[in-house]
Amino acid sequence: MTNRQTGAAILWGFLYCSLAFGQTGVDQQIERDLPALVTTYKMLHTNPELSHHESKTSALLAAQLKSYGYEVTEGVGKYGRQDWKGYGVVAVMKNGTGPTVLVRTDIDALPVEERTGLPYASQVKTKNDAGQEVGVMHACGHDIHMTCLLGTAKVLAQARDRWHGTLLLICQPAEETIDGARAMLNDGLYSRFPKPDYAVALHDNADLEAGKVAYCPGYSLASSTSVDITVRGMGGHGSRPEATKDPIVVAAQLVLALQTIISRENSPLDPAVVTIGSIHGGVKHNIIPDEVHLQLTVRAYREEVRQMILASIERITRGIASAAGIPDRLAPIVKVSDTEVTPATYNDPQLIERVAGAVGRAIGGENVVKAPPVMGSEDFGRFALEGHQIPACMIWLGAVDPAKVAKSKVDGTTLPSLHSSLFAPLPEPTIRTGVKAMSAAVLDLMSGESRSAGAR
Ligand SMILES: [Zn+2]
Ligand SMILES: [Zn+2]
Repeated sequence: MTNRQTGAAILWGFLYCSLAFGQTGVDQQIERDLPALVTTYKMLHTNPELSHHESKTSALLAAQLKSYGYEVTEGVGKYGRQDWKGYGVVAVMKNGTGPTVLVRTDIDALPVEERTGLPYASQVKTKNDAGQEVGVMHACGHDIHMTCLLGTAKVLAQARDRWHGTLLLICQPAEETIDGARAMLNDGLYSRFPKPDYAVALHDNADLEAGKVAYCPGYSLASSTSVDITVRGMGGHGSRPEATKDPIVVAAQLVLALQTIISRENSPLDPAVVTIGSIHGGVKHNIIPDEVHLQLTVRAYREEVRQMILASIERITRGIASAAGIPDRLAPIVKVSDTEVTPATYNDPQLIERVAGAVGRAIGGENVVKAPPVMGSEDFGRFALEGHQIPACMIWLGAVDPAKVAKSKVDGTTLPSLHSSLFAPLPEPTIRTGVKAMSAAVLDLMSGESRSAGAR
């Protein structure tokens, strides 16, 4: 071994030790913080708030982030509706020259009445925007995400010697209604605050063991678009169909015909879904109604596919109505929602492999697994901007008691899914792993160490 090689070996040894020590330091801090984080988690879980109404949740997050030394701005978010206040929180920490990294949590809960029976289960009941009384529950685990963001914020505030750049922690409201990310961007998220070079997030997973993380390079969640169709006919007596144009028969043909978009018009290599989730028309056995309403959700990964499906829905709907003899003046109304719409989540392949590598070094490579894409949707993808301008990725955080996962594999029991009234993440190991994973991801992106060479 030459002197040069010996020197290099010593340097690598030193680097390895300092990295290992760094991780140990982070791990020790997380263990110290964990009891308080679990208490915060349980408090958040007991006090969920519906989308567009996250006032107390957002105040709690803002206060905590301020106490860690972040520059915090509250009330970020502008909706189309004046009566909805934006409860987004943005916390910034500048620490020298380096990349700007956005870490996002969502903060809203769902209109679900909790049935877990946990001592900290939510008993909250409130009126939804339609005035109906509903239970409220963190059935999607956004309370886990918030707690992990707080834990990560604290770790990073205390490990400032290990990273350089600007941290942008954002607490996003109204994820479940998929309009919160857009509301924050509309309110100048990327002009009033530093625009990120990377955006990262985690979401808990109802099939994966606590202690594990899963990831899916490329498209991992689908785009979602709500479509409303009003089929207009000419109603009349149920005994005299010849004197009517029956919108129920047209709607029935539509239900089947729209499925041919996926089976006959779309490439089988491009996953997509058209679901008609609601169909309403008529009031009585012997009356042919004037109208039938259908509500659809369209899922796809690629934007071109989404556009093709929407155009086909319009064409087929009009064509079937026309074939039934419905005059042009009563042509069906096809309304593509401009609020209930969100782009696909595309995990930048280079970024997510880098993040997965960093997470593996923090929690053990055997605890990081690949996951298949799903057709569910999220509005996190919006932070990447159109055309995936900002490399973004979202990792899955295992949240289920490993004993329950093992049992379900043996006896086929179905585990409660996200949004189920029985969904009950296992707090300690889930939060520990979430904080470790997110801290490791951010430290890797902002450490400027040799591993960062592959970054763009
Ligand atoms: Zn959800
Ligand atoms: Zn969610």
